[in-house]
Amino acid sequence: MTTESSTRDCPGGAHLRHLLGVDGRAVWLRVGALFDGTNLLRDAHLVYDAGQILHVGVDLPPRAVVRAGQIGPDHVLGEFTLIPGLIEAHAHLFLEGGQEDPVVRSAYLKLDFETLLARAEARLARILRLGVIGVRDAGDRNGIGLALQRSYHSAGRGAMPYLDSPGAAIHHQGRYGAFMGHTIEADGSIEEAVAGRVREGAHRIKVLATGIINFQLAAVTSPPQLSVEELMRAARSARAHRRQTFAHCSGNEGVTACIEARIDSIEHGFFIDDDQLARMRDLDIAWVPTFAPVQFQADHAARLGWNESVRSGLRRILDRHAASLAHAATLGVRIVAGSDAGSQGVPHGHGFLRELEVMEQAGLTPLQVLRAATAAGAERLGFAENFGALRVGTKPRFLLTAAPLLDGIRHLRKPLTIVFDGVVYTGGDDPSLPGL
Ligand SMILES: [Zn+2]
Repeated sequence: MTTESSTRDCPGGAHLRHLLGVDGRAVWLRVGALFDGTNLLRDAHLVYDAGQILHVGVDLPPRAVVRAGQIGPDHVLGEFTLIPGLIEAHAHLFLEGGQEDPVVRSAYLKLDFETLLARAEARLARILRLGVIGVRDAGDRNGIGLALQRSYHSAGRGAMPYLDSPGAAIHHQGRYGAFMGHTIEADGSIEEAVAGRVREGAHRIKVLATGIINFQLAAVTSPPQLSVEELMRAARSARAHRRQTFAHCSGNEGVTACIEARIDSIEHGFFIDDDQLARMRDLDIAWVPTFAPVQFQADHAARLGWNESVRSGLRRILDRHAASLAHAATLGVRIVAGSDAGSQGVPHGHGFLRELEVMEQAGLTPLQVLRAATAAGAERLGFAENFGALRVGTKPRFLLTAAPLLDGIRHLRKPLTIVFDGVVYTGGDDPSLPGL
């Protein structure tokens, strides 16, 4: 096993070797608090090697998983909290979210494939050091996400989180989404659009069910771009190819259509109502609320030139969305965290941490937020590898922090130690550096 970066900010510093499993041996840690993705355990044990978790719980590990004659942990980290690595369930890796200038943003899209890919790879390497160990890319029209997905599965890949991609999102000609999708009209039918994405290697299918919010009017003012029947055909066709679907969707009418069509995951979902949330709970349709892009507009309204009427509209939208999130948690809806990073003002990694803070401000507890950012998505979204919950047999991808994380999600911004299979990453990421 190897280590990257310095041992600065690591538990025990010089004891870093204890996290690595020298010579491929299993490592036995005891920590003050361990969140396994669902439950919080105090004074818990974790045993793992480079490939998988061998034991997790408050009980001592069975002898079969520790070294012969070993009677205690390799390292006792009583002040530390250990959680699964974070999963960003909605990001557009091909876009630089920290770039706020619309003119520069549209010029960026004209860069050649190799440049776009290299910049996306650099983003992935940086967000791994913020604790993001998995990304569900939400689509691009140039094949960047698919290329990243291939890189992840290639031998000798560099430092990067797990990533999968839907390829180009599916939308209607003349409707929202040309910058990240290809049209149904170009493929001839929804079924052929789905089959084409699968042929290109898409791990899942992304549909653009609606337009976007009109900030001037604080409403979704255009009708959905895909009908219930079209969404059903997309979901049925994807299932026939053993693929999940996820839908860009805002506005009450669009949300109803996505629920009727049994889309696996509803993205954004602004203007969702309580009856719809109850239906989603019953059908185990995931909700990825993506506050961050709208929160950015509200937080920087003056700089962005919004007048008072737009500002109050943004506040109304966000207040309603926050109330829906709190209600969804009470109902038991499968809430999954995703930031829509790449959107204007939502840098990769740091924007995701901001998303988690906003979810907490909306009324979720830190543990509910952490569940949304780890096991909730891992259990439902069909990733190609088993990670996101700490259980026997899952990949050893977890975070250690000495900060009081259970007191507030903001503590995720403090130094973390990230264990990803056989490698330890530390050092964080400087948010003032451009490129994310
Ligand atoms: Zn998106």
